Amino acid sequence: MYAMALRKIGAPLVFEEMPDPIPGPGEVRVRIEACGVCRTDLHVVDGELPDPKLPIIPGHEIVGRIDALGPGVEGFQVGARVGIPWLGHTCGVCPYCASGRENLCDRPLFTGYTRNGGYATHAIADARFAFPLSEQGSAAALAPLLCAGLIGWRSLGFAGPGKILGLYGFGAAAHIVAQVARKQGRTVFAFTRPGDVGAQTFAMRLGAAWAGGSNEKPPEPLDAAIIYAPVGDLVPMALANLRKGGVVVCAGIHMSDIPRFPYRILWEERQIVSVANLTRQDGIDFLGFVAREGVETSTKAYPLEQANEALADLRAGRLEGAAVLLPPKI
Ligand SMILES: [Zn+2]
Ligand SMILES: [Zn+2]
Repeated sequence: MYAMALRKIGAPLVFEEMPDPIPGPGEVRVRIEACGVCRTDLHVVDGELPDPKLPIIPGHEIVGRIDALGPGVEGFQVGARVGIPWLGHTCGVCPYCASGRENLCDRPLFTGYTRNGGYATHAIADARFAFPLSEQGSAAALAPLLCAGLIGWRSLGFAGPGKILGLYGFGAAAHIVAQVARKQGRTVFAFTRPGDVGAQTFAMRLGAAWAGGSNEKPPEPLDAAIIYAPVGDLVPMALANLRKGGVVVCAGIHMSDIPRFPYRILWEERQIVSVANLTRQDGIDFLGFVAREGVETSTKAYPLEQANEALADLRAGRLEGAAVLLPPKI
């Protein structure tokens, strides 16, 4: 197999040939057709998440087909189309797993962080954490659903039922969530980097009712704000735009420090919450919604060997939608 591997924090990924992995008990091997590039991959590469497995193959938005089954795998056949998400394994017995909150498991494994991921031609996955995918849609179009879509879906749940939704950072997650929110009958206001007319135009094209800089006031107060950009300064800015009882949802895995702010902008039962990971039920619910309602993704494809360029474009905010890596056909 071939992969783009991270050997040292902060170093560029390196294209490597390595032995084909053999699936163990309960595992499947997937021949990868596309893998999305997520902001979390930048946090892994930059060392902003503690204790990555090194070397590591990043990538947790995998779409591919099973090409080998480990012993004891049930419910999957060779050739089945599957999606492999960030949540790669849970212990099943800790208090969180036992109470339906496996996203908070005490002993989890995460794809592309603590187990090898999808910047490769092949990956091994715990079969219980692989989602069956329909034959509809190209692999590249489906890949961003596996994290941007899934985390977006979970964060939208935490935003509550409010009608007026603010999205801060209009990248891969927001461009999916905006469509979902519109289909739910909500009004979407998009906040981008100040002056980023391209992102604002993109947001309006996807159904936002208003788009402006993160330093601007929306046309009316927000019932909820979801922050996808890893920028702590946005938390008090979003809070100041909430109506009473509103909520700010921090959807990223890492964020710069949140500056101090006056208590009065939190007062009146406004809340700040974070969203961590996903449960398998989130995946079932979200992929079911997508199958019923349809969600379009906007992607830019890169050959696998250009993963460093894709990460650089994400870092610089040069992408409209999501970057996706396509492995070589071998
Ligand atoms: Zn657990
Ligand atoms: Zn992700």
